[in-house]
Amino acid sequence: MITRSAKSLQTNNINIYQKPVQSWQEVLSQSVTSPQELLEILDLDPALLPGAIAGSQSFQIRVPRTFIARMERGNPNDPLLRQVLPIQAELDEMPGFTLDPLGEQPKNSHRGIIHKYHGRLLLMPGQLCAVNCRFCFRRHFPYEDNTLNKEEWQSALEYIRQDTSLKEIILSGGDPLAQNDQRLAWIIEQLAKIPHLQRLRIHTRLPIMIPQRVTDTLLKWLTGTRLQPIVVLHSNHPHEIDDHVTDVTKRLHQHGVQLLNQSTLLRGINDNADALIELSEKLFSSHVMPYYLHLFDKVQGAAHFDVDEDHARAIMGEMARRSSGYLVPKLAREMAGMPCKITVPPIIPDAPACSG
Ligand code: SF4
Repeated sequence: MITRSAKSLQTNNINIYQKPVQSWQEVLSQSVTSPQELLEILDLDPALLPGAIAGSQSFQIRVPRTFIARMERGNPNDPLLRQVLPIQAELDEMPGFTLDPLGEQPKNSHRGIIHKYHGRLLLMPGQLCAVNCRFCFRRHFPYEDNTLNKEEWQSALEYIRQDTSLKEIILSGGDPLAQNDQRLAWIIEQLAKIPHLQRLRIHTRLPIMIPQRVTDTLLKWLTGTRLQPIVVLHSNHPHEIDDHVTDVTKRLHQHGVQLLNQSTLLRGINDNADALIELSEKLFSSHVMPYYLHLFDKVQGAAHFDVDEDHARAIMGEMARRSSGYLVPKLAREMAGMPCKITVPPIIPDAPACSG
């Protein structure tokens, strides 16, 4: 039997998993960064090219070939493709959509740190991601002002040392796993020396995009620390989870890593209960707990992904009606200046208090 992923690989003629195994760095360096190449690989209509070029001017296209291999050839509405293909609408300036929708810049008082909430903060080891998601709320983030030199790393660590209310450090970015293992191992070693820290959380799409990223070396630094490791994946659609992704999430689980997933609700991609239920089922089979479903953050250039809140609540109601409670992620809205994310209740007609 041919699985969907194997079929896509054959159809797209991308034998990435059949070649002698490539390192994750090789896969990352061979990512597609040209709209024309992406359209050609997927045999898509060249009429899409002018919009794709225009949309990529302010936010470059970047897609690893391991992710393209899961897309359906010839389908401009493929839910994975739509997350990464720039379009003309990205140039539209829509009222209510801003460059910094979560108000992160006032919370970025130290280079490389965003400190929004009590007890935890976000530390950014770098700006690179494996994929440039068109809906990213940090697509306008001034990463160039947040790269840390040696002295600034010491100062960032001192900031963390001084705030004894901190229990958890979240490595985010950019994708922290786009950094090399040596650098990450050094960062973890420094954090583990700070007595009040208890947990290390890593927000990443890399194990989804390039499963080869989960190497023995990564497992060594991630699990060889006194800090409790949590990996929060970001997957939006069930087609993202193929056998290779499941293999590496199972490995992480076997090594004692707590695995959660966060998704973003995106119009035309996953704004229906069927897709989200299938995603939760696949995640859970892969030892990943569905955690958050984020209402879209209103970032300029991505208004076409926005989903009406009542529609989102109705989808969640349908999910809750058809799924075990632990398979239903929390629908959440993040608002600038709030001390935490706000959980939004589902709409469940004729059954206001279902659970379990
Ligand atoms: S991987 Fe995350 S940080 Fe990077 S572009 Fe996608 S959503 Fe943004």
